[in-house]
Amino acid sequence: MITPETKIRMGMVGGGPDAFIGQVHRCVAAMDGQIELVCGAFCSDPARSESFGHSLGLEPERCYPDFQTMIAREAALPPERRMLFVAIVTPNHMHFAIAECALKAGFHVLSEKPATVSLEQACALRDRVRASGLKYCLTHNYTGYPMVRQARDLVASGELGAIRKIVVEYPQGWLASMVEQTGQKQAGWRTDPTRAGSSNCMGDIGTHAENLAEHISGLRLKELAADLSRFGEGRTLDDDGNVLLRFEGGAKGVLHASQISTGEENDLNIRLYGEKGGLQWKQQEPNTLIVHRLGQPSQIYRSGQDYLSPAASSMCRLPAGHTEGYLGAFANIYRSFAADLRRVLSGDAGSESSADYPGIEDGVRGLAFIEACVKSSQSNAAWTPLQG
Ligand code: NAD
Repeated sequence: MITPETKIRMGMVGGGPDAFIGQVHRCVAAMDGQIELVCGAFCSDPARSESFGHSLGLEPERCYPDFQTMIAREAALPPERRMLFVAIVTPNHMHFAIAECALKAGFHVLSEKPATVSLEQACALRDRVRASGLKYCLTHNYTGYPMVRQARDLVASGELGAIRKIVVEYPQGWLASMVEQTGQKQAGWRTDPTRAGSSNCMGDIGTHAENLAEHISGLRLKELAADLSRFGEGRTLDDDGNVLLRFEGGAKGVLHASQISTGEENDLNIRLYGEKGGLQWKQQEPNTLIVHRLGQPSQIYRSGQDYLSPAASSMCRLPAGHTEGYLGAFANIYRSFAADLRRVLSGDAGSESSADYPGIEDGVRGLAFIEACVKSSQSNAAWTPLQG
């Protein structure tokens, strides 16, 4: 049992000294004062892992050489001291083994996407999560933006009518040259099938686009036709892809994700068109949601304003005019997860639906999407159903 004053204790796997997303997780986990990092296994090298833990000011005996030791030793600590959940921020190929080990030992899990490196693993992980009764959060962080929630609420209200078309894009340009050959760590593992999985671009950012489309529309992607490319000479995995989408219920769409779109940064953007209206949101201008209604001038919704839905308002952290950015949106996912854990740990079992954050089902959808893209592209963009 925990009291309202107790912090939710987090252990971390991955996120060592030169990692990208681990530092983001530590920062956003701390943002609402609900979560405390108490231990970690931060790198594959045991000595570096322990010394990095020391540099973060952790108790020396809780700076672990590897995740197996961390999970075993934490499980042996008295309940009021041991970590309560594991945050997984390693490259993709490690996610499944760490999540499985944590669940087996009775720890809740928060994991980076993609949930695993194969659909088979993702389905197996879903079974383990369900059987364990433990909580699992997948950090599809873009769902944490207030204006994304406003968009979802507008669609769910029926104001835009049945959705007919979705256009979602995630262009980046950082792999326009062979960055992986310069020793750049993040490019190194993303372009390596043994660590990234069967796709680079679609796994890394295509899944964010797919998740955003399903999250806002409330529709499930049914089948797709994908044309993936490897523009970087000698690359074995895709660095660009164009995908046609068919959703259950008849909506259609287009998804394009790219790492070779020279000059692009992180231009995730989405447009949805329904029978009575449409909307548009861009990650690089996150405070603005443009809404169209048939026969009326378009409207601009802005974060921080009183007219937003209660859920979108609750996700705004700043007065209007200050940017609700990447970190705040990411922190909203952590805050929802911490609230759900607090409910469970304080004896209120809560229902599945009390989980207001992406979960293992989103993970399965992501892997179904990746594998359908790869399979379709190998068959000259044949229409391919999503499995799982
Ligand atoms: P990274 O290479 O920068 O960091 C990975 C870290 O994991 C490194 O510190 C590495 O030493 C450590 N590591 C590797 N093997 C380990 C092991 N066996 N035990 C402990 N630590 C180990 O990678 P990154 O860019 O931070 O990506 C990590 C994960 O986060 C990936 O799954 C990626 O898809 C995801 N990611 C998500 C977002 C997002 O927006 N949600 C953004 C970036 C990355």
